[in-house]
Amino acid sequence: MDFLCPLCNGLERKAIVCEKCGGIMEDRGAVQEYFDDYSPYLDLEITRKVDGVSRDQCLHVFGCDTCGADTKIAVGMVEY
Ligand SMILES: [Zn+2]
Ligand SMILES: [Zn+2]
Repeated sequence: MDFLCPLCNGLERKAIVCEKCGGIMEDRGAVQEYFDDYSPYLDLEITRKVDGVSRDQCLHVFGCDTCGADTKIAVGMVEY
C-alpha cells in the first residue's frame, strides 16, 4: 500500500474557483515540478513552503487563465 497524489498521477482532475474573478483555476502541477524551471534564488522560499506541508499532502499550484492569479492548494494523497 502506498500513498499517491491523485493529481500528479492522473487519477483525478481538480479545478477551483478563482477568488479574484470567479473564473476557473486549473492545476499547473505540483509545486516542486512547477518551480524547477525557475531561478535558484527561489529555492529557499520554496523549501520552507514545501516543508510546511505534511507528507500525506502534495502541494499544487493552481492558475487562473482569466486574470492570471495563482494559488497553492494542498492535495490529499490517496491510498493506492
Ligand atoms: Zn501532486
Ligand atoms: Zn481569476
